[in-house]
Amino acid sequence: MQTKPILIVGSMAFDDLEFPVPVASPDVRSAAESDPRATTSFKDVVGGSATYSALAASAFAPVRVVAVVGRDFPEATLETLRSRRIDTAGIERADGLTFRWKGRYHADLVNRDTLDTQLNVFANFRPRLASGYGDSPLVLLGNIHPELQLEVLEQTTKPELVVADTMNFWITGEPKTLAKLIARIDLLIINDEEARLLSGIHNLARAAKEILSRGPKGLIIKRGEHGSLFFDKDGVFAAPALLLEHVVDPTGAGDSFAGGLLGYLAEQGKYDHHTMRRAMMHGTAAASYCVEAVGTLGLSELSRENIRQRVERIRHLTHVGEE
Ligand code: AMP
Repeated sequence: MQTKPILIVGSMAFDDLEFPVPVASPDVRSAAESDPRATTSFKDVVGGSATYSALAASAFAPVRVVAVVGRDFPEATLETLRSRRIDTAGIERADGLTFRWKGRYHADLVNRDTLDTQLNVFANFRPRLASGYGDSPLVLLGNIHPELQLEVLEQTTKPELVVADTMNFWITGEPKTLAKLIARIDLLIINDEEARLLSGIHNLARAAKEILSRGPKGLIIKRGEHGSLFFDKDGVFAAPALLLEHVVDPTGAGDSFAGGLLGYLAEQGKYDHHTMRRAMMHGTAAASYCVEAVGTLGLSELSRENIRQRVERIRHLTHVGEE
């Protein structure tokens, strides 16, 4: 069975990141405990939902990216993507500045506040799929304005699987457009806080039921270091997160999870409940590499074999054997 190509739309960005602790430290968490006032910030880190997802998915499958960057975006990053089977023909270089996001992490290195979002070239972006992209069998509508996600979806011809990611920024800012999108996808990926915001229900089991009633066949709720949950008509599956000793920068973990998940599904060519369970483990493995370094560094050389090794570790974490 040949691995299927994945179409990914999302942001490509410069991120400014602020951490409460010096990231150069070998153990960021213990540094936080010893000096809670220390801070470290990084400016102009190349990020964006499409960048993270594409890098993770490319460990499994050929990837096609639809995005926009400004004149200031480094050509070297596009070269890195191309060196990993990522087709960049769908990345438009527009006149203006690249999308910017600024976030500040709390001392737990899990929660964060968005300090600034500048849409820049995304404000006037109208995605037009490059030739041959429309018939992509797997489509990942990465976190971006839901109107753009819908525009991409409308240009595809009967994809086998449509997955969308979103965030609180769009849940509160664009609820109607987001509702239209959610009704048309197969799988929605959000975090626990977003699931509560979207459904208005605190209890995650009931929140999931409510969200599934809006149209998607499946729902994944990410819970950071507590792993993730998958809900569909056949039941619930809980994937643990790996217990990592060095968590450096969680930015892009969710996007890498989605990229790894779709990569595995593209490789398997089927999307039933049991394949989804295994796909969750592969998404988790991809995300674990992402958080070990600043920006996309942890993913830049990610291989299928790296993923295989971490999936083994995740399996081992929960294996209980026979009674
Ligand atoms: P994650 O940590 O998986 O939520 O993804 C973080 C990435 O999402 C960063 O690299 C940001 O550039 C990007 N990002 C943040 N806010 C937005 C937004 N409103 N639209 C699109 N991308 C965003």
